[in-house]
Amino acid sequence: MTTHDARIAAPRPRRATRSVRIGRVTVGAEAPIVVQAMTNTDTAAIDATVTQVAELARAGAELVRITVNNEEAARAVPHIRERLLAQGIDVPLVGDFHYNGHSLLAKHPACAEALGKLRINPGNVGAGARHDSQFADIIGIACKYDKPVRIGVNWGSLDQRVLARVMDENAASATPRDGDAVMREALVVSALESAEKAESHGLPPSHIILSAKVSGVQALIAVYRALAGRCDYPLHLGLTEAGMGSKGIVASTAALAVLLQEGIGDTIRVSLTPEPGGSRVQEVVVAQEILQTMGLRAFTPMVIACPGCGRTTSTFFQELAADVQRHVRARMPAWRERYAGVENLTLAVMGCVVNGPGEGRHANIGISLPGTGESPAAPVFIDGQKALTLRGENIAADFIAIIDDYVATHYTAGQASLSGQDRIES
Ligand code: SF4
Repeated sequence: MTTHDARIAAPRPRRATRSVRIGRVTVGAEAPIVVQAMTNTDTAAIDATVTQVAELARAGAELVRITVNNEEAARAVPHIRERLLAQGIDVPLVGDFHYNGHSLLAKHPACAEALGKLRINPGNVGAGARHDSQFADIIGIACKYDKPVRIGVNWGSLDQRVLARVMDENAASATPRDGDAVMREALVVSALESAEKAESHGLPPSHIILSAKVSGVQALIAVYRALAGRCDYPLHLGLTEAGMGSKGIVASTAALAVLLQEGIGDTIRVSLTPEPGGSRVQEVVVAQEILQTMGLRAFTPMVIACPGCGRTTSTFFQELAADVQRHVRARMPAWRERYAGVENLTLAVMGCVVNGPGEGRHANIGISLPGTGESPAAPVFIDGQKALTLRGENIAADFIAIIDDYVATHYTAGQASLSGQDRIES
């Protein structure tokens, strides 16, 4: 290994030493980093919520958060859980509570029982004197039903009492920090003190996950570095309100990649704003791709494709790359059940002879399509060796058939698993 490689591959020093069990999913310690998602349906609309949770789970979400904001939503939760189980979907549901969680959970014990985890925000538990008693009530319910809790601080709803106190302490300090640093410190203090309070109310440390979300990349990195250095609870990582489209994806990736590389983060969510009518599943795909491209987990065969340039005059290789990507994603739910390790498969679709054979040889299966002026032949490489050459009208179908045959003959059949996490843990 070169010096450069050693630097890039530096060990990831911090993972939470504790772990939290949520249904069949483990977060923290040596467990694989967990992908989670959140619905945007009205939870009281049971059909729509079941449909969306099922979509997210089938796409690979291992925890799915749902809003529990009123009586109708609380009543719906056990029915949602039952309907999902009837479809064979055992994804733990996380109830997101603000303002009235203490009363909803007390009035609807079936809701508390059906949830895999509770998420509370110390800034939104209750105002003034009611804060402490309502916080204690929710923690008491979590203890009674043996549910883990994520204490999720957010800078948009930071506990104002904590902020005021940290500001006062800063003003009295001989070396006061700037306003942003004070805000970041208040976020960390709010999360840590809330966890301490939850433990004092009887919640075991093995039932606590922390998060402290902000919407700025550099601020998020600073906050999580501080939080990780001061506790060993598992951390839920995410850039809050990341935004739409490429901005949301890039900002989330930039922030999460830095932290994950430092071993910070035990479960992640990518908080993307979908286009109107757009699929919620995108946040799951992006989260998986962050982890997979960083080499932290594998979910789906990776398709490497060149960008194309003046050496390609047609869009054929782009279409083939898209077809291959679609095909492996569509086949993955069935492959995952039958073929252990198939998510580690790598595929390359290249546009010409310049990098095609080289990249093709690095993949399990690669194809180098003919660029401008090349003879109309597409060599296919399998495990580093040129295996055959495709020609004619059916190159796409033939290449996909080669992929299917490779999967069926190179991965162990009959080793079903429920999720990537189960597979890695086993
Ligand atoms: S592999 Fe060929 S077509 Fe693709 S970007 Fe490189 S030179 Fe261009």
